[in-house]
Amino acid sequence: MITNKTLKLSLKSLREFAKKRLPDETLIDLDNKDECPLDIVRHMCSPDKLGIQLLFVPEEFGGMGGQTFDVYCICEEMARIDLGIATSVLATFLGSDPITVGATPEQKKVWLTRIAEEGILFAYGATEPEAGSDLGALRTTAERVIDNGKIVGYKISGNKQWISNGGVADAYTVLANTPAGPSWFIVEKGAKGFTHDEPEDKHGIRLSNTAALALDNVYVDADRLVGGVEGQGLLQAQAVFGYTRLMVAAFGLGAGWSALDRAIPYSTKRIQAGGPLSEKQGYTHKLIVPNVARLEAARSYIEETAERIDAGEGSLNTEGAIAKYMATEAGNLAADASIQALGGYGYTHEYMVEKIKRDVRITTIYEGTSEIMEMTISRDRWQNHLKTRGQYYHELAKKFEALHAKHPNVGADIAALAMHALADVMEKARETRLTRHQHVLLRLGELIAYAECAGSLARRAALMEENKLNEKANKRFDAAGLAAISRIFAREAALKVAAEGLRWVIGTGGLTDAEIPAFETKAGLPAIHRAQAGLISDLDYVADVLYGRAAKRVEAAA
Ligand SMILES: Cc1cc2nc3c(=O)[nH]c(=O)nc-3n(C[C@H](O)[C@H](O)[C@H](O)COP(=O)(O)OP(=O)(O)OC[C@H]3O[C@@H](n4cnc5c(N)ncnc54)[C@H](O)[C@@H]3O)c2cc1C
Repeated sequence: MITNKTLKLSLKSLREFAKKRLPDETLIDLDNKDECPLDIVRHMCSPDKLGIQLLFVPEEFGGMGGQTFDVYCICEEMARIDLGIATSVLATFLGSDPITVGATPEQKKVWLTRIAEEGILFAYGATEPEAGSDLGALRTTAERVIDNGKIVGYKISGNKQWISNGGVADAYTVLANTPAGPSWFIVEKGAKGFTHDEPEDKHGIRLSNTAALALDNVYVDADRLVGGVEGQGLLQAQAVFGYTRLMVAAFGLGAGWSALDRAIPYSTKRIQAGGPLSEKQGYTHKLIVPNVARLEAARSYIEETAERIDAGEGSLNTEGAIAKYMATEAGNLAADASIQALGGYGYTHEYMVEKIKRDVRITTIYEGTSEIMEMTISRDRWQNHLKTRGQYYHELAKKFEALHAKHPNVGADIAALAMHALADVMEKARETRLTRHQHVLLRLGELIAYAECAGSLARRAALMEENKLNEKANKRFDAAGLAAISRIFAREAALKVAAEGLRWVIGTGGLTDAEIPAFETKAGLPAIHRAQAGLISDLDYVADVLYGRAAKRVEAAA
């Protein structure tokens, strides 16, 4: 168990290390050279140096026994430094996950202890040239080697694609088909018949080594089959999806904030049309504040999901998918807006936001693409909708109406409008069988993610008002700031759910012309329009908070 003090110390060491060893010039140079700084990655994973990986290794194997919440905080911080290096460190987290979840006690002792004590680097080998989103298409095989009627080992053959740390890891977890189905194997570097390609020439995360692997009859002893039972591989992978997707969500969050934290100070110094850009609404209210709102909505969902995983609520795969989807999409939007915010300078290498934008692009692709996240979210919540006869989101909305009664400023009433609208759109989709169109199913996934994040952020703002937020939670904004951010995001979410929900219902022929006005009212579109009142003053307020002007405004008002 890691205390808040230890966590804060680890974050501080990480920041200081980055400041010293990874200044912008070094990062830009490595990015230009397309080079993975292996010495840095090893330093970060070395137990006698930074020892980041100790955080997630259980105490019984020499680690610090960090929980999901701790690992999220570290992942966000790493992403703020460099997403390529963060990916290299994460590869060891991911690579050892099948072991943490599914290995025998002996295997855990060997491999997790080696990660803790020797700082060995892992790679996670699931994807193949023909099997990306659809891992069921896996072709790598593990053939049993039998001696005296007993399985003594396996011969693994196949190809893996896009493997982070592929060319630099000490050990690999490789997914392969055994006669009983997909299974994880641990393969060490240098095994006979095991090779990797040259690193890929990538769009971003150029400081991370990504390489294809080839396995040609690679022999491993039977004790390298994770868990000792064949056919458990996909279950073991799924058991940690909630957790691993939260880590990538934290990457999107950290990278998005890292870009905004360059744009915000830049805009205070850049004078155009007689004043700093930070004073211009057309700038802050388009490029900065909405991105802050989306990132903080995603943060809220990440933190809640991390707390629930740590409380033992299960793997929470759907919640992990919502967190990843929202945070990585928001991170991409924030980085793109930051390029715009720096104008021509933003488009050059020197100012870093261009690199961050290229880097953060990967987060909507690896660990499950955004489209796969949309599908995962939609399919799961669709079942909830059916099981509750369409009441799932109406019931949730009632909880937010109750929250609004206690905390009238946190946007819970608007989050409730989003949920009622969602319930009505989903019910209409059911009545008219609209989800037979895959596009509609996936768009519903997006709307669900927005509505749930609006609720989560309103809950977070209420907790902040009560001073009951998790002690490890990010506290960049005070209660008034967070409440304003929550109202901004809830308005966006509610309008999106209602307007786009209607768009797809109408677009697939779910309503006749005559039925449209009544359905608009039923889904709450007029109420959602009315809830936009106050939007500009909330945008003004959050801009003031971000630029340190809020206190002055309060003073002036007094
Ligand atoms: C830099 C990098 C590092 C990576 N690191 C690792 C690693 O360490 N280990 C590892 O195992 N893998 C790794 N990956 C692989 C990554 O997880 C996959 O690229 C990802 O899962 C997508 O698979 P794919 O590339 O085959 O794309 P595809 O699955 O072919 O998808 C292509 C497009 O089609 C969409 N699509 C796919 N299926 C559907 C569907 N049913 N309906 C609608 N749309 C669909 C996708 O959303 C995507 O937009 C890495 C990839 C990259 C680029």
